[in-house]
Amino acid sequence: MALIVQKYGGTSVKDVDRIRNVAQRIKQTVDEGHQVAVVVSARGGVTNELVTRARELAQTSDPKGQPDDREMDMLLACGEQETIALTAIALHALGIPAISRLGSQAGFKTDTAHTRARIREITGGDIPDQLAAGKVVIVAGFQGLSDDGEITTMGRGGSDLSAVALAAGLKADLCQIYTDVEGVYTADPRVVPNARKIEEISYEEMLELASMGSKVMQARAVEFAQKHDVVFEVRSSFNHNPGTIVKSEAPSMEDVVVSGVALDKNQAKIAVSDLPDKPGSAAKVFKALGDANVIVDMIVQNIGRGGAANLTFTVSKDDVHRAVEAVEKVLSEMGGGAANYVGDIAKVSIVGVGMRSHAGVAATLFSILADHEVNIQMISTSEIRISVAIDLADADKAAQAVHDGFELDQ
Ligand code: ASP
Ligand code: MG
Repeated sequence: MALIVQKYGGTSVKDVDRIRNVAQRIKQTVDEGHQVAVVVSARGGVTNELVTRARELAQTSDPKGQPDDREMDMLLACGEQETIALTAIALHALGIPAISRLGSQAGFKTDTAHTRARIREITGGDIPDQLAAGKVVIVAGFQGLSDDGEITTMGRGGSDLSAVALAAGLKADLCQIYTDVEGVYTADPRVVPNARKIEEISYEEMLELASMGSKVMQARAVEFAQKHDVVFEVRSSFNHNPGTIVKSEAPSMEDVVVSGVALDKNQAKIAVSDLPDKPGSAAKVFKALGDANVIVDMIVQNIGRGGAANLTFTVSKDDVHRAVEAVEKVLSEMGGGAANYVGDIAKVSIVGVGMRSHAGVAATLFSILADHEVNIQMISTSEIRISVAIDLADADKAAQAVHDGFELDQ
């Protein structure tokens, strides 16, 4: 008998039929003789719908009005409250004893940072007792209880974090993340049709892929798993195929130089011209961006001429206006320069822990792109990743070419 934590995401519990399907799957695990604790998300689309309504009301008199964070948490926690009860009811209908638990009841203690709370501790509440009594426990993902007794949520996609944290808190033997894809792929199969499901991947690679736009799981959940050494499997709730195991790096993983190709088509390029070429200029520009909560990705600074330098950087498309506004403001304080949105770009990244021990990976990537007439505009790297910014129109072609070039379909 094993203790298994299963997490079902929003698409897996989207409607009554899908909740029935989830209940069947849980029943099957129970019938195999295991103890099961389940974490569920809100029904797909519900959280977004609630956010929209709250914004509508907050913007009644001010188009920039934002709803209060504490009330947002109170509101958004409803989505998961619905699905835990429905899932428990569906299990009862199959003759399986089950009980639902809110995050607060399950001992998810968080700090007080509403809408992005961090977990302090998972006590599990009475879950171990309920499991021992033969019940399946269904826990609301995404939500917790702050030190001062308020309901909190842990950032969008936070049910993944709840599942991993619960698995750590209960010292579960297995953590399964059920979703609408079969696992982690060598590339997005919608763009690269011969992409392959990866059997095993390290936390680090998974994190790089997630931050590069392959949104299989919430990045915070992967970080938590890495820190607490929670091995988990990402798999589909729509079939019984094995998924992808995510765990700490094993020596054999280094044999694979490139594990996957990520494509992010939601990037934009901003150019700053005539920036005073003196110490502190870049610091001021990027401090302004940081204060405006804009995450900057790639940065290129050209050699200064006549006391002025040019700077180009990329940001998420959603942040373009905030970024330009913030930089223009600081430039006018500095007495020179202009900031302009240049256009949209795509970012192609290759990720693999094997890059640490293999030379020439960048050269291979660049020549693959050159052979396909793809121009590289910017480059950035980490120890296990190389990213290039390219023309948006070349995005799909480049991803396929890189996938083929590194023979990732083999
Ligand atoms: N319902 C929350 C969201 O949509 C949490 C989750 O689904 O993981 O972000
Ligand atoms: Mg999710």
